[in-house]
Amino acid sequence: MKIAKIEPYIIVHKLDTPFYFSQWQYDTRKICIVKVTLEDGTYGWGEGYGPAGVIKAGIEFFTPFLLGKDALGHEILWQEMYRRSLDYARSGSLQAAISAVDVALWDIKGKLLDQPVSVLLGGIKNPIIQPYATGLYFTRVENLEDTLVEEALIYKSQGFKAVKMKVGLGVEEDIKYISAIRKAIGPDIKLMIDSNHAYNYRESLKLAQQVEKFDISWFEEPVSPEDYEGYRRLRENTTIPIAGGECEYLKFGFKRLFENECVDIAQPDICATGGLTEAKRIATLAQAYSKDVVPHTWGTWIAINAAVHFVGNLDMNPGRMYCELPTMELDRTENALRDIVTKSDVNVVNGLINVPNSPGLGVDVDIDALEKYREIKTDDASFKIRS
Ligand code: MG
Repeated sequence: MKIAKIEPYIIVHKLDTPFYFSQWQYDTRKICIVKVTLEDGTYGWGEGYGPAGVIKAGIEFFTPFLLGKDALGHEILWQEMYRRSLDYARSGSLQAAISAVDVALWDIKGKLLDQPVSVLLGGIKNPIIQPYATGLYFTRVENLEDTLVEEALIYKSQGFKAVKMKVGLGVEEDIKYISAIRKAIGPDIKLMIDSNHAYNYRESLKLAQQVEKFDISWFEEPVSPEDYEGYRRLRENTTIPIAGGECEYLKFGFKRLFENECVDIAQPDICATGGLTEAKRIATLAQAYSKDVVPHTWGTWIAINAAVHFVGNLDMNPGRMYCELPTMELDRTENALRDIVTKSDVNVVNGLINVPNSPGLGVDVDIDALEKYREIKTDDASFKIRS
């Protein structure tokens, strides 16, 4: 079944409430999604994570090598795109462009074969997923502590059993907010912290050691993604599990992370690290290094549904008869592009997700909304929201 058309779109929405994290502030969401259409009209949707303009340009770069090719040969197409990018961009946003196309091809494959993507990945091993709520970003309010506590309690009331908060404003300020949130949500809700590589080794160690008493389930991106030695030393000197990988690309990036003993939990972003095709390989690599995998997930329902199918198929590490439910990231912050432009058959009920059975990813785009939020001008390639 041949590929007839590849259409990348940039969608944009100005946030009602700007938020910030350790690196910069956002007032706008901007995402690149792609529609791949076959000769018979079958289509699939994909999404790239990262600077939307760069990803769109990447998709346009790959398009001539994909048109007229068999969509079911997605590994062949993946390899073609990878080889075309290798000389210029061994990691980064060209890999996110590959990811977007790859996710769309999996959606198409599911529709053609009338099967959900998780079945095509090898079967639904985990029919129920317990996602954690991502939120608790910083906002310009008078009393940030009260605002964060209020938000954390909303997630608890919605049935979430785990929440992830931002840190990275300085060790003492971080401790104040972590302490307040732990006190508010009680001991039964898991709490993770994410600094988005705000700290050097010594700062991250100080924070980790001082918040161990708050039962932190993981410390995400404590140091620079380039500081493999800092990751390793921190991991050796705190009881808090260390998570990272949203800045890594392809199996080769995760190989470096694992060989250097940087993390307990690997967090590939399916829409950046090489798509579902490469994420599955990374999961196999993680298994060989005895690492957990909890995908980093951001953006629209296209990305979320891809993660749901991926986690639905994921082997548990190491696996036993009675495991905890697998988890994945579920962003709870304001996102009209997710909630209005895309439509999903994934429902979050009392903090749980049932892996859907509909063919493909189980996601679609509202064409009217796409036109409303679509950006025609593509000269701003600087945007990236991080979670
Ligand atoms: Mg993160």
